[in-house]
Amino acid sequence: MSDRSFLDWPFFDNSHRELAAELESWCEAKLEAAHGEDIDAECRALVRALGDGGWLRYCVPAAYGGVHETLDVRSLCLIRETLARHSGLADFVFAMQGLGSGTISLFGSEAQKRSYLPAVAAGEKIAAFALTEPSSGSDVASMATEARPGEGGYVVNGAKTYISNGGIADFYVLFARTGEAAGARGVSAFIVEAGTEGLDDSERIRVIAPHPLATLTFSDMALPAEALLGERGRGFAQAMATLDVFRTTVGAAALGFARRALDEATARALARPSMGATLADNAIVQAMLAEMVLDVDASALLVYRSAWVRDVQKRRNSREAALAKLHATDHAQQVIDKAVQIFGGLGVTHGVPVEGLYREIRALRIYEGASEVQKVVIARHHLAEAKA
Ligand SMILES: Cc1cc2nc3c(=O)[nH]c(=O)nc-3n(C[C@H](O)[C@H](O)[C@H](O)COP(=O)(O)OP(=O)(O)OC[C@H]3O[C@@H](n4cnc5c(N)ncnc54)[C@H](O)[C@@H]3O)c2cc1C
Repeated sequence: MSDRSFLDWPFFDNSHRELAAELESWCEAKLEAAHGEDIDAECRALVRALGDGGWLRYCVPAAYGGVHETLDVRSLCLIRETLARHSGLADFVFAMQGLGSGTISLFGSEAQKRSYLPAVAAGEKIAAFALTEPSSGSDVASMATEARPGEGGYVVNGAKTYISNGGIADFYVLFARTGEAAGARGVSAFIVEAGTEGLDDSERIRVIAPHPLATLTFSDMALPAEALLGERGRGFAQAMATLDVFRTTVGAAALGFARRALDEATARALARPSMGATLADNAIVQAMLAEMVLDVDASALLVYRSAWVRDVQKRRNSREAALAKLHATDHAQQVIDKAVQIFGGLGVTHGVPVEGLYREIRALRIYEGASEVQKVVIARHHLAEAKA
C-alpha cells in the first residue's frame, strides 16, 4: 500500500527501481516479524539470509564482491528504507554490515579489503564500528582509549560503549589514540578480531528496541602492526568520512519506519467504525494523516537528494546528510506517534506494529550524531556561506 511514486523521481535510475521491486518481493517472501526470544540468533540468521539474498553486496565495493564500484548511497538508502518498513532488526543487521566495514572499504589496504569485505558481503563475517566511549559520545575527539605503539604493534587499553553487534561481531573497527597530537589528530583506526586476548565484549546493554549492543573493554590488548587501518593519526577523519556515507541511510531507515506507520494508521482509520462512519471520515483524523503524508514525502525528498548529491554530483554531502537525518528521524517520531494515537489503546499494546515502531525509532535521533549535533552542522554550513 505504501506510496511508490517517489521511485519516479529523477534521483534514481532504472537499476534503483528494479532493486526496490526485487527487495520488496524478497522481504514479503522471506522476512518474518522478530520474535525477540534470542536476538543474537535472530541477527546471525538475518546476516546469513541477507548474504544469501545478495543484499549485503551493496555494502562493499564491486572489486570485493560488491555491486557498485564505490558504495552507492541511493541503493543503501532504498535497501534500508525497504527493510525498515518490514523489519527493524533486518535493517539493523544490514546497516551494521555497511557501517562496520565502511572504514575498510574507504581506507583499508588491499590485504585488509580482501580479508574482510568479501566475507561481509556473503554474510560470513559480522562487522562492528567501535567509536563511542563512556565519557565521549558526541564529543568524539575527546576519546581516551589508547593504542600505545610498541615493538611490532600496539597495546590497547580503555573502553568503548553502545557498540552495535558487540558480543556477536567477528571483528571490530576500533578507533583509539596513538599519541600523535591531542584531540582529533591523535586518533588511529584498527581492525580487531573478536576473541583477541585482552578484549572483553561480554557486557551487554539492553535498550528499548532490543538488538545486540555491548560495552567493550581492552586490557593490555596486543595488536599487530598490520591491524592499523589507513594512515596513523588519521582515524578521526576516517571515522567522520565513514559516517558521512552512512548518515543519510539512518534517515532512510527512519523513512521506512514512518512509511510503515502511515500504512498501518491509514488501514486502521479506514477500517475502524466510529460515530456511524469510520475514523477515516473524521476531519481531525484526516488532518493527522495529511501531516503524516507531508512529513514522509519531505523526508524522502531530503534523504534521496542527499544520496544523489553524493552519488551523482560526487561531492561531500555533510550539509545535505545532516538535513536528511535531522528531518527524517525527528519527523518519523512524530508520524509514528500520530499512528499510535489513531490506533488508540491498541496502539500501545505489545506486539502491535505501531507499538514496535514507537520503540524502534527513538535511538535513531541519538546515534550517528544526535539531532542537536545535526543542527550544529547545518548552522555551521549556513553561517559559513553567509559570511563568504
Ligand atoms: C541503539 C544505539 C546504538 C549505537 N551503536 C553504536 C555503534 O555501533 N558504535 C558506536 O561507536 N556508537 C554507537 N552508539 C552510540 C551513539 O553514537 C552515541 O550514543 C551518540 O553519539 C551520543 O553520544 P552519548 O550517548 O554519549 O550522548 P552525549 O554526547 O552525552 O549527548 C547527550 C545529548 O546532549 C546533546 N548534545 C551533545 N552534544 C551536543 C552538541 N555539540 N550540541 C548540542 N547538543 C549536544 C544531545 O541532545 C545529545 O543527545 C549507539 C547508541 C545507541 C543508543
